[in-house]
Amino acid sequence: MFFPSEPFRIKVVEPIRRTTREEREKLIKEAGLNVFNVPAEAIYVDLLTDSGTSAMSDNQWAGLMLGDESYAGSKNYYHFEESVRDIFGFTHIIPTHQGRVAENLLFSTILEKGMIVPNNIHFDTTRANVEYNKGLALDLVIDEAYDPHIFHPFKGNMDLHKLEQTIQQHGVHRIPLVFITITNNSGGGQPVSLQNIRETRQLLDRHGIPLFFDACRFAENCYFIKEREEGYRDKSIKEIAREIFSYGDGCTMSAKKDGLVNIGGFIGMNNDELADKITTRLILIEGFPTYGGLAGRDLEAIARGLQEVLNEDYLHFRISQVRHLGQMLEDEGVPILKPVGGHAIYLNAKEFLPHISQRQFPGQALTVALYREAGIRAVEIGGLMFGHKDPHTGEDVWPELEMVRLAIPRRVYTTQHMVYVAESIAKLYKEREKIRGLRLVYQAPVLRHFTARLEEV
Ligand SMILES: *Cc1c(COP(=O)(O)O)cnc(C)c1O
Repeated sequence: MFFPSEPFRIKVVEPIRRTTREEREKLIKEAGLNVFNVPAEAIYVDLLTDSGTSAMSDNQWAGLMLGDESYAGSKNYYHFEESVRDIFGFTHIIPTHQGRVAENLLFSTILEKGMIVPNNIHFDTTRANVEYNKGLALDLVIDEAYDPHIFHPFKGNMDLHKLEQTIQQHGVHRIPLVFITITNNSGGGQPVSLQNIRETRQLLDRHGIPLFFDACRFAENCYFIKEREEGYRDKSIKEIAREIFSYGDGCTMSAKKDGLVNIGGFIGMNNDELADKITTRLILIEGFPTYGGLAGRDLEAIARGLQEVLNEDYLHFRISQVRHLGQMLEDEGVPILKPVGGHAIYLNAKEFLPHISQRQFPGQALTVALYREAGIRAVEIGGLMFGHKDPHTGEDVWPELEMVRLAIPRRVYTTQHMVYVAESIAKLYKEREKIRGLRLVYQAPVLRHFTARLEEV
């Protein structure tokens, strides 16, 4: 495989520390076998998330110095609005301090008890915000998404047949909008094709239902479209993005992903009435509409980051770096989700640890082992994150996929770090029989994976 080389050079360095195995053993025990409770300073390569972990460019850091911290009408807000509108096109651009607040504002405004929000696959905060507002969050991705072995170029696609059936079954009045998440984070960072987006739009037009995007990784999705979808090879990333959003009525976005910043988000939409209602709530929760919980300098960094992320050299390196890690793991026989998505490698924990049943959290067991053995922090996306009790039958419901996500921060780690990660995982794979299952000793009622405590069985 061709070696991806960095389209940037390093101007500032942040030292990271190696720990001993004994130190890590003690820390992970104190953390209740939950890597969210481990101090970041005791982690060598942190692949917990690609959210808010990006390295900013010299251009963005320079922009911070131009922060205008006026309470109202900051010049950075106007630049932010201009930059977002240039790509997304929506009439109303409402800043928020991160993605989940955008979701909270939107769903608390539009949802009534028993309403349904279809998505390809809801991200965990999206699902939680729908459910907290007494809605039902439905995942209607194509079936291929659940088979970790099938190659499909657009595994994040919405299943149009399932969507049509859902509308027929529940009725238009119960579906205030439909979401498409690009790329589909919880399904492995898989892209959605423009054809699928166009067809979803056509279907929803027949019923008069609005379409929103969860746009966190829109640029990575655009890169896949350019690479894989017929007719887009000669289009720029911005042209592809504009076409995507031209089919939407709005979006929520966490700028902590493809905004290339450490904090920020926004809601975009065309509906004036909805924008008014959301703005009223925004003032209550986040702040005045021209800062939305952010400092002026943060808005400037987003304005610049959103344009930088469209750079094809950057995107080529980004996607290749993730793909390269995937290739190194595959060469060692490690079971991963395929094809490799945009921002992360997903280890298939059911296959990695076939001796641990799903009710003993094989994904979490693998995550703990990876920290203990190599100082690498990953995150479980499986039974701990999505397992729950059926509200009607009281029985445990387990997700189809049991994965461990290695999310790669943008512009942060070098190819050599990726080699370290691949070698550490390959070693763990050879000794996988030693890893034991886990049981829960504490769980919170929502988003339990963040604060859960576990022990080995
Ligand atoms: C990160 C993320 C969110 C939530 O954004 P935050 O900034 O973490 O609140 C929503 N949807 C998707 C797909 C995400 O990846």
